[in-house]
Amino acid sequence: MPILPRDHTDYIELETCPCQLCTEYRGAVVPYLESVKLVEQSGHNVRCVCDLCRKTRKLNTQQLAADAKRTLWSEAVFTAEGHSWGPLFLEWVENRILFGGDTTYFWVQESEGMSMDNWIEMFIEQVGESEIRISAAKLHSEDKTVAQALTQSVPKAVHAVERDAANPELA
Ligand SMILES: [Zn+2]
Ligand SMILES: [Zn+2]
Repeated sequence: MPILPRDHTDYIELETCPCQLCTEYRGAVVPYLESVKLVEQSGHNVRCVCDLCRKTRKLNTQQLAADAKRTLWSEAVFTAEGHSWGPLFLEWVENRILFGGDTTYFWVQESEGMSMDNWIEMFIEQVGESEIRISAAKLHSEDKTVAQALTQSVPKAVHAVERDAANPELA
């Protein structure tokens, strides 16, 4: 099973990142941009249905989907950092991206409208709060935060994410 990098928030480094998501993104964006150049040179308009224009629109969809997956992963890594439920959340997101079987349409159209809180809510729904707490407790079983991890409810964590987003200096 491929493992995505847990340090994936530096957008400058993403340009050279060798992970599966970044490799796929670069592999999709290069042919798209080449195709766009050909369309521009040919002077075809946005409603043109010739082979070149149809191919370009398909390549556009593919690079948007690859970009959406990579962006979700980067934001999930950033959001999960420092939270007891973070590792389990990342595992869930990773599985969703790599093996979720979502359509290209989902990534281009639907994931676009989803906030990180939406993803966290879906994670809680699917994984279950008790399992998230047990996993968090195991992770911290060797340090003092075990009691805290056991009592920490995930909805509180969601609020913490909202607060962090509203006050970037607290994040
Ligand atoms: Zn990467
Ligand atoms: Zn055309």
